[in-house]
Amino acid sequence: MPEKTQPKVTKQVKVIKANEIDPRFKYEVSKVPGAKKIMICFQCGTCTADCPIARFSDSYRPRKLMRMTQLGLKDRVLSSDNIWLCAACFTCVDHCPQDVEISSVLRALRNMAVKEGVMPVVFRDLSSNILKTGYAYVIPALRLRKREEQGLPPLPKASLESIAKLSEVTGFSELVKKKKEESE
Ligand code: SF4
Ligand code: SF4
Repeated sequence: MPEKTQPKVTKQVKVIKANEIDPRFKYEVSKVPGAKKIMICFQCGTCTADCPIARFSDSYRPRKLMRMTQLGLKDRVLSSDNIWLCAACFTCVDHCPQDVEISSVLRALRNMAVKEGVMPVVFRDLSSNILKTGYAYVIPALRLRKREEQGLPPLPKASLESIAKLSEVTGFSELVKKKKEESE
């Protein structure tokens, strides 16, 4: 009987081109408080193995993001949706044998992405809501009416003046508006 052959699994590998590599990137990241130890990640994979998000995602791999950062793949890392998936639960930080503060590295990467004008729509919307109403979510009138019917006190009013002042001082509103030009 002829031997059964297994279907060939082809994995798409994205080739790294030399002009994609920014050798300064890892130094920029390591200067951010909390992200210094990115340099000593030795790729053991413990962070990915223990990460609760990686368990349910086909693409989120903190180990891989650490490696891409070390390699200087700045554009790929900063434009990746994956850097926004970290739940900052610190499980990986507790288990990393090199004491890399992975969640701080990811925070640093998200902040850099925003400065480059890259922010997922959902976070842009949440940020705009805060600037407009003081709340991350726009609370529907129906919900407010229900509170009233249940005898609950009205929700506290946010000081929009203070929010505007804070966002001006920190540059938050400008960051929310900033959008990276789509490359062809
Ligand atoms: S657990 Fe620490 S050393 Fe291991 S891959 Fe993750 S960041 Fe690197
Ligand atoms: S802090 Fe982020 S990367 Fe680390 S285990 Fe939690 S979700 Fe995963």
